[in-house]
Amino acid sequence: MSKPVRLGVLLSAAVWVGLPSWTAAQAPSVEEPTAAFQARGATEAEAWRECARPVLKDLLGLDRIQPWTGPDEQRVTLGEPEDLDTYTRADGRIWTEPDIQVPFWYLRPKGPGPFPVAVLPHGHDQIGRNTYAGIARDQQHADKIRREDRDVAVQAVEKGFVAIAPVVRGFGELGLPASLGRADSTCVSLWHHQLLRGRVLTGARVWDVMRILDWALDLPETDQDRVLVMGNSGGGMVTSFAAACDPRITVAVASCSFCSLVGVQGQMHHHPCNIIPGMSRFGEFWDVHGLIAPRWLLLVHGQNDPLFPIEEVERSVEQVRRIYAISNADDRFDHRWGSAGHRFYKDLMWPFIDPAMAR
Ligand SMILES: [Zn+2]
Repeated sequence: MSKPVRLGVLLSAAVWVGLPSWTAAQAPSVEEPTAAFQARGATEAEAWRECARPVLKDLLGLDRIQPWTGPDEQRVTLGEPEDLDTYTRADGRIWTEPDIQVPFWYLRPKGPGPFPVAVLPHGHDQIGRNTYAGIARDQQHADKIRREDRDVAVQAVEKGFVAIAPVVRGFGELGLPASLGRADSTCVSLWHHQLLRGRVLTGARVWDVMRILDWALDLPETDQDRVLVMGNSGGGMVTSFAAACDPRITVAVASCSFCSLVGVQGQMHHHPCNIIPGMSRFGEFWDVHGLIAPRWLLLVHGQNDPLFPIEEVERSVEQVRRIYAISNADDRFDHRWGSAGHRFYKDLMWPFIDPAMAR
């Protein structure tokens, strides 16, 4: 009982001597950002992107990751494709580091191509690549996939994309044993391990997307000028950072993931595994999205998503809209509200993606 009493005394003393309130005292002191968007026109905006993108890539630790150095022909293995009527599905593996092999589903339309490419990182879901490929473990999972439009790889291949659904680091085969008593934190365990190595988990996730693109865009059946990256929740975070770092991505759709990194009162809305040390010295999350301009970007949220307050989302979206306008790319950015919760909204997404890909 002694601890609460002592804490109460301290708090009373803090009020008495006029110290900041508990909330204000604990709020993060935001560093002066060094790479935030300040351009006044499209030319300056492009110059800013040229300077700011390497800064972000450095924060993500991309140059501290060692690439696969084995024989090129052993980098990717693809299993026998299964015929699923309108498309085929193969079980793949790609070495993205000397000791990291990323499993993925490879869904391919029938016909010769060339097909646009969709890379679809999932969020906090231990079997996320199966969810995206519409492979349900039971009826309840099947119902959730259908009700929340979660089979985005199937949607994409039926739209004519080569659709790649990889396992995202921190989950499934690429998770680590969770901390005791925290069964949902395999991603946090891996995040801690990455920090101990001086690396960043988000950076490793972005790295995997980029290495998958290296391989996929070299295939004779793909069109390297039409590349979609799309994900929900944690997959939306990977989408945003990958598109900011890699100009090969022509269309990015981030679902139920965009918000300020630090809210007006100091709140943080993203899962800890997304935290990038030093990020506030770069800028805010809208600055990261400014690196995607003038390429196509759609942000989607659910009105009833408990993770992201509507006013904080709106405040942040306005900043992305401002950057796109200054970049003369207003027509390539949109933000849409879905009428439910934390999920995909295919009726909002594909009407944006289709014309972006058709140009
Ligand atoms: Zn996480």
